[in-house]
Amino acid sequence: MYDFVEQALIRLDIFQWLELRLGEHEWITKDELLNGYSYKGIRIPLIPTQQGIHNPQIFNETLSVVSTARSKYEDSTRDDGMIEYDYESQSVEGYNTKLRRAYVNKTPIIYLKQIKPGIYQPSINVYVIGDDLINKKFILDFRSTNPENDEFQPEFKTLPSTEFEKKYAIQQTKRRLHQPQFRAAVLYAYEEKCAICRLKHPKLLDAAHIVPDSHELGVPKVSNGLALCKIHHAALDQKFIGITPDYTVDVDKDLLTEVDGPMLKHGIQEMNGITIQVPKAKDEKPDRRLLELSYASFLANSRK
Ligand SMILES: [Zn+2]
Repeated sequence: MYDFVEQALIRLDIFQWLELRLGEHEWITKDELLNGYSYKGIRIPLIPTQQGIHNPQIFNETLSVVSTARSKYEDSTRDDGMIEYDYESQSVEGYNTKLRRAYVNKTPIIYLKQIKPGIYQPSINVYVIGDDLINKKFILDFRSTNPENDEFQPEFKTLPSTEFEKKYAIQQTKRRLHQPQFRAAVLYAYEEKCAICRLKHPKLLDAAHIVPDSHELGVPKVSNGLALCKIHHAALDQKFIGITPDYTVDVDKDLLTEVDGPMLKHGIQEMNGITIQVPKAKDEKPDRRLLELSYASFLANSRK
């Protein structure tokens, strides 16, 4: 058994390994989580094979937990941005003991959000900040801030006064939490390529919303997303280009006749009329009704 100092060092090493391993990607496969990491020649799996809570023997506290989401985005995010994490069932009550210890000892853990079967988006430095004995839930905090730290701030410094402010603050919090998951899921679905020009560099790609997330229908689902390079994302947002409900790129008429350098010519004008590349899975293809909404806004705003 390692003493608590070495345990902390191994945990830190695991976090660093994960960050390096992720690099410019946002996700990691189950196989890599199971077999990829070793410490001084000893393999340490970073994900449980059965339960949601992962307690490797060498640690006194939980190492990781897996999202209990019934559907992709429906984890139990509270209005204050914290996640509620159900206890393991009675039969395996022992699993909760080490997570409770992570809470008491303020030990950071890993939260593994499943974005597809076998594909996870990890968050490191997640803290257990509460243990709700009555409702049998742990409360997880994603803000990567040690509660001991002076910089630790409650989500709202001053309580929002009006209903509107409160609603807005809640929306902002949830949006911030879901953004990395949305990005990971969209880039994965599009095989890390711009749907328009096929540029294949994750660092130059965004997960664009078809209908903005400020809109009621702007849900963080892959079907409301498009993987786009920075230029095409901005061009779409600024209505220089539109995408029709049948997945065709429509370039603003004035822009089509403008004469400028190679970026305008090859990057935008030549994209007029092409069909965008979309994921194969039916539930991941861009939702045609959402495109209809966004295309109508392009037609209304583009400089005809
Ligand atoms: Zn592009």
